[in-house]
Amino acid sequence: MQSLLLRNGLVIDTEPTPTAHHNCDVLLEDGRIAAVGPNLATPPGTTVLDATDRIVLPGLVDTHRHVWQAVLRSIAVDVDLPVYFTMVRQQIGPRFRPADVRAANLLGALECLDGGVTTVQDFAYARADRITPDGYVAGESDFDYAEAAFDGLRSAGIRAVFGHLLTPEDTAAVRRTQAMFDAGNPRLTLAAASLGPSNQQVDAIRADWRLAEELGLPIVTHVASGPVHDRPIEVLRDNGLLHSKILYVHGNSLADDELAMIGDSGGAVSITPAVEARLGHGGPLIGRLAAAGVTTGLGVDVVTTVGGDMFGVLRAGLLTSYLTPGPHLTPADLLRMATLDGAVALGLGDQVGSLKVGKQGDLILLRADDLNLACAHDPIGAVVSSAHAGNVDTVLVAGEVVKRNGRLVGHDLSEVRARGAETAEYVTREAVAAAG
Ligand SMILES: [Zn+2]
Repeated sequence: MQSLLLRNGLVIDTEPTPTAHHNCDVLLEDGRIAAVGPNLATPPGTTVLDATDRIVLPGLVDTHRHVWQAVLRSIAVDVDLPVYFTMVRQQIGPRFRPADVRAANLLGALECLDGGVTTVQDFAYARADRITPDGYVAGESDFDYAEAAFDGLRSAGIRAVFGHLLTPEDTAAVRRTQAMFDAGNPRLTLAAASLGPSNQQVDAIRADWRLAEELGLPIVTHVASGPVHDRPIEVLRDNGLLHSKILYVHGNSLADDELAMIGDSGGAVSITPAVEARLGHGGPLIGRLAAAGVTTGLGVDVVTTVGGDMFGVLRAGLLTSYLTPGPHLTPADLLRMATLDGAVALGLGDQVGSLKVGKQGDLILLRADDLNLACAHDPIGAVVSSAHAGNVDTVLVAGEVVKRNGRLVGHDLSEVRARGAETAEYVTREAVAAAG
C-alpha cells in the first residue's frame, strides 16, 4: 500500500461546510483519503510532505470549461456575445483539426492543474457550422475529435468529465467515444452534451435525452430564455424530460419558477460569473439559485474572454452576489461551490470535492506564506478574496503529485507551449483565409 502524509497544514475541509483546522494532517492511502486530523500516526514506508505554511484544501472543481479554447486565449476580451459566437465558434472553431484539439486540450488541462483545478467539465469541441435547431449534424470526424480531446486530458493527468455532443441520428461516434472512456482512464468519464431545450425543437431534445438515457450518461447543456424556447425548463417539464441528471449552464435569463423546477427535479446549475458579466449574459444567477435551493457549481467557461484562474471566478461570484437579486453569499458559500457542490453537480459528489475519508486524494496546497496570503485572519476568506493560481504550490490527483514546489511534474512545458502556438497560428490563419 502506498501512503502519503501531508504534515501540519492549515487544512480546510468543505463538508458539510468549509471549516479551517490549524496544525492538521491528511493521510492518503492508495490514492484515497484515509484520515484527517492532528498528529496522525505515520505508517511504515509513508512519504511525508511538510505542509507547514500551506493551506491544504480539496482540489477545485470547474464545472464548465471549453478546454479546447486554451489556444485562443484573450482573442475575445473586448467583444460581446454575438461577436464571440461569430469569431470563435463560427470562423475559427471549424478550422480545428483533431491534432489541434489535442494540443489545445493538453495545454488547457495543464493550465487547470497548475491553477489548482483537479476536476474539469470539458464541454466538447463541436463544429458550430453543424449546429441546427433540429440537432447537431453528425460528421465523420466526430470520434476523431473526441479521441483527440481525450488524449489531451489523459496526457495532462487531470480528472475530467468530457461532454460529447450528441448526434442522435448517427450514434456511432458517441458509442465509440463511450467505449474509449470505459476502457480508458478512471479519471476520465463521459457526459452527454446537448444543444438542449433552449436551442432545439422538442423532437431533437427528446432524441438527445433518450440517447443519453440509453447510454447511461448525465446530460450537460447551455440554457437561456431563447432562442428556440423562451421557457426551456418548462418545455422539459411539460414533456416529461425534467430529471436529476442534468447540469444546466448559465441560465441567467430563466424565470424564478423555472429555477424552482430545476431545484425540485434535483438538477444542478453551473454558473460562470466572470464570463457572464463580461459577455453580457446578464447578472449571474448566484443568489437566485441559492434562494431556490439549487446545487450550484462554478466555471471559467472560455479563456478567450476571461482568465483561466478559478480563484478569479470565486471572486467574481462573491462580488456579483452583491449586485444581483437574492441573498448575498459568503466566502464559505463560494468555496463550497468550487469544491463539493461542483463535484455533486458533476455526479462526482461521492468521489471528490471534500476531504471525507474514502474520497479520492485530489488536494491542493497553497503557499500561506506568500505575501498576498500572509497574516490572514480568516483562511477561507483569504482563499476566496486573495488567493490566485500563483499561490498553488502542490497539486495531487488521486494521490499522485502532479505539481510540486510550484512546478508541474512530468511535462515538457516548452513543447506543450510550442504545439499550442502552432495550433493558434494555424487556426487563426485559416480562419482569416476562409473569410476572404
Ligand atoms: Zn459554454
